[in-house]
Amino acid sequence: MAVDLHTHSTASDGSETPSALVDKAVDLGLSAFALTDHDTLEGIEEARASADKAGIDLIPGTELSLEHEGGMHLVVLWLEPEPGPLQDRLAGLQFGRGGRNAAIVGLLEGLGMPLSLDEVIEESGSGSVGRPHIAAVMLRKGYVESIGEAFELWLGAGKPAYAPRPRLAPEEAIGLARDSGGVPVLAHPHTLGINRSHEMADLLVRLRSAGLVGLEALCAAYQRHEREGYADLARRFGLVVSGGSDYHGSYKPGLDMGTGYGDLAVPYDVVDQLRAGAA
Ligand SMILES: [Zn+2]
Ligand SMILES: [Zn+2]
Repeated sequence: MAVDLHTHSTASDGSETPSALVDKAVDLGLSAFALTDHDTLEGIEEARASADKAGIDLIPGTELSLEHEGGMHLVVLWLEPEPGPLQDRLAGLQFGRGGRNAAIVGLLEGLGMPLSLDEVIEESGSGSVGRPHIAAVMLRKGYVESIGEAFELWLGAGKPAYAPRPRLAPEEAIGLARDSGGVPVLAHPHTLGINRSHEMADLLVRLRSAGLVGLEALCAAYQRHEREGYADLARRFGLVVSGGSDYHGSYKPGLDMGTGYGDLAVPYDVVDQLRAGAA
């Protein structure tokens, strides 16, 4: 009985729809899988509808990018797409006063391209609001000749109206996740850019006391000895050994759901341990 606790769909940067991921999980014989799109829970509803039909256990989740030198990703499992402390905070970071969209609108105004946040929200219909909708309003107002041009000249990374995505601090995100019924797991720890073991130890102690439950030791990218090393580290600091493929469909060629590059296996037991660890 294998599971996969880290996957991405078209709701963020995966190539396959949430329903397609459910079909794949069923084909692979997984007993549970978590949909953990970046900074959003938008794919959960679709995935759950398919999962209920197919009779597979879907774990709703997300993967957050946090404020940390070198970057830090936190997978939050069992986070429902409904109002809650973390969910509300994520929405606020996008739409609210001081949020990213508002910052971009302010920059555009300064560049002589006034538009209002209300127009952008209206453009988006009912889904999440972001740069594509700002680009659409710019096009309608004749500031650019295409959506592509809006990104190339103004909205893309490093361009004059680019505003970085605001990020939560690790302890805050972990606290909000726990308050929302979620189970926070530190993702692919090698990407933290920490080489010294005492620095890693300090970080894990800090995050554990903030409420961290698990550490991804079972990553597709790791060799067996690396998985064992991170698993030892997790146990040493009272964290559950978690893992997943970090599946992105065709955007990560050669990497499959469940088995990663062929040698990954996350046992179902991890699901029980994570739940127990958060209880
Ligand atoms: Zn990640
Ligand atoms: Zn990921």
